[in-house]
Amino acid sequence: MSAQIISGREIADEIRAELSERVAALKADSGVIPGLATVLVGEDPASQMYVGMKNKAAAAMGIESKQITLPADTSEAELLGIVGGLNADPRVHGILVQLPLPDGIDEGKVIEAIDPSKDVDGFHPISVGRLATDSGDFFAPCTPAGVVEMLLRSGHDPDGQHVVIVGRSNIVGRPLASLLLRKAPGGNATVTVTHSRTPDLGAVTRTADILVVAMGRPEMITAEMVSPGTVVIDVGTNRVDDPSRERGYRVCGDVLFDEVKEVAAAISPVPGGVGPMTITMLLANTVKSAELAAGAAA
Ligand code: NAP
Repeated sequence: MSAQIISGREIADEIRAELSERVAALKADSGVIPGLATVLVGEDPASQMYVGMKNKAAAAMGIESKQITLPADTSEAELLGIVGGLNADPRVHGILVQLPLPDGIDEGKVIEAIDPSKDVDGFHPISVGRLATDSGDFFAPCTPAGVVEMLLRSGHDPDGQHVVIVGRSNIVGRPLASLLLRKAPGGNATVTVTHSRTPDLGAVTRTADILVVAMGRPEMITAEMVSPGTVVIDVGTNRVDDPSRERGYRVCGDVLFDEVKEVAAAISPVPGGVGPMTITMLLANTVKSAELAAGAAA
């Protein structure tokens, strides 16, 4: 039997509609318009595309977005100065510095310069520490937050479930494990994190109630690595050559979708799965930041 398809696109639309209402209420009640500043250094085409998509999505729901585009030879000091200016600007509630940064700029230093109360990407060490210790106010990184939201909204609450995560990166696997371990909605899961040194990966993935794959290896998770009835979320986004397509490639996940959908209870597609959720959670963090700022100013 074919699996339930968990459409990130549909869930993202649902969340964006809710966010638009919150943006309108914020404006009506306190005159505050959420502001997102994106900083792009250099001319990497993928980064240009991501930043463009983020600004467009923000503008579509009434968030004021401001893109700062800097040449590739921008110095670290100049960039730190710009981040400092955005920290001090009350119209800016969220700051996103698009990674990767050109050689010669210390990414860690730049991330640490962002005011944690505007860290809508959730990469500042204070945000990471608060998430890991489940304490205080913080913004969760957008991709893992999107995965949790997809599970909750598609009726697959991770509470009490065994979630196996493939991948331990700082932007997906690790923060996702922290979110799933929280004593909070979307948490309370039993979590196993696997990586490239995990022997017999299939033996571990077959024990999952929920399997989240973020390895960056096209279609590596096959049906025999998934037990019947598992809920599968595919974070992977890979381009593979496909001469049959006009553009010469196709986009696929880390899961062999056509095969795994026949054993899984539910599965997210690529594209149209986690991707749209990531941008949506960035917008959600920006709106939350503006609400917190408006509340503090009231
Ligand atoms: P990453 O930093 O390269 O991390 C990949 C992880 O997968 C590492 O922990 C690695 O293990 C593990 N891994 C690699 N090969 C493995 C194998 N054969 N068996 C078990 N584990 C293996 O990648 P990432 O940034 O987390 O991204 C992962 C994927 O998600 C990529 O396709 C990326 O494009 C996609 N992504 C999508 C979104 C979105 O919005 N849709 C956002 C972020 C990322 P080691 O640690 O041992 O090397």
